[in-house]
Amino acid sequence: MSPSTAHIQDLAAYVTASPSSFHAVAEAGRRLAAAGFRRLEERDAWDASTGSFYAIRDGALIAWVVPESAGATTAFHILGAHTDSPSFKLKPKPTTGKYGWLQAGVEVYGGPLLNSWLDRELALAGRLTLHDGSEHLVATGPLLRFPQLAIHLDRAVNDGLALDKQRHLNPVWGLGEPADADLLGMLAGSAGVRAEDIGGFDVVVADTQEPRVFGARGEFFASGRLDNLSSVHAGLTALIDTASTGPSDGPISVLAAFDHEEVGSGSRSGASGPFLEDMLLRIALGLGAGTEERLRALASSFCVSADAGHAVHPNYAERHDPVNLPVLNQGPLLKINANQRYTTDAPGAAYWAALCRAAGVPYQEFVSNNVMPCGSTIGPLTATRLGIRTVDVGTPLLSMHSARELCGVEDPGHLATATTAFFRAGQ
Ligand code: ZN
Repeated sequence: MSPSTAHIQDLAAYVTASPSSFHAVAEAGRRLAAAGFRRLEERDAWDASTGSFYAIRDGALIAWVVPESAGATTAFHILGAHTDSPSFKLKPKPTTGKYGWLQAGVEVYGGPLLNSWLDRELALAGRLTLHDGSEHLVATGPLLRFPQLAIHLDRAVNDGLALDKQRHLNPVWGLGEPADADLLGMLAGSAGVRAEDIGGFDVVVADTQEPRVFGARGEFFASGRLDNLSSVHAGLTALIDTASTGPSDGPISVLAAFDHEEVGSGSRSGASGPFLEDMLLRIALGLGAGTEERLRALASSFCVSADAGHAVHPNYAERHDPVNLPVLNQGPLLKINANQRYTTDAPGAAYWAALCRAAGVPYQEFVSNNVMPCGSTIGPLTATRLGIRTVDVGTPLLSMHSARELCGVEDPGHLATATTAFFRAGQ
């Protein structure tokens, strides 16, 4: 099996195990623990200095490797990404329905391509918190569907589908009377807890279709949540590799996977919150750093903000910059924006170019067409908060924010290879 085939199969397994941000960090934690990383609880005192560790805060995870030679001024090399994807979140009192249908009340989460969620077999996944404070992951099998209206009842639908987010997006999940049904009770059953014990829940809708390689030469990979589990997985792979075979005198390698990027990152587990800063401070304290040493370490640190980006769409090429036209399987994007929606600057671009060249990884530049407003990432937030030089990179996709996105089979592996080189690079 080629390295890229093995990587894409492992990415498929990771995405499948991660229908919600809570599952994404649990699966990452499981893989890290199996590789010898020790989980630290934020409320405990830490006796950690050198070694491999991780901490989980709600749907976010930070994991790091401190090499043997690390001291108070050792730089951090940070791969930042996000665990959440656009979706729908279960509302309070979610059991609804009429005309003999059972339906679910859901709230739109972030900016999904709504049409892509129609006519799919969907699951519910997330966490339940019980009255005793205990937390339980829950994931159902295929349960719901947003059924599209037949064309006979909407003859103009192919001129432009208009979906009212409140009226038209109430998925069906069974037949019967809502008064006799209990969606939360069903979730409690699949989590092995009692419905009356549930005190709160964060549960989203997720597509159940298996990821798949396809195309004339197997060059494409279709999957949900490539934005941005393709980056989390690349960072995870690189960090586990670095823990076992990395140099003893390298930088401190850090994977920072935040939640809530799709809704602006403003939460205690989002990139605008203090999670990364808190972890870096505690790592530095464990190495005996005072304020002076800590600021010196940050000044020589570097962050790669990895998030999915746009490949050129052959049917809409005019929406892209006419010169910078990224394609699939030609390597990760280096994202550039004059208005600082992406952080990449000249020293950052030069650093990334040298890194990719040394690692034997191709890369390509992305810049927006001036009349197309550009998205943003956790990069500017992290750089603003910590003052660490940052570049924005990521896997090129088509159909970003679709329930089933599309990337090339080579690019996620290229990103992981570049990230491994970044974690091993000299300070
Ligand atoms: Zn993203």
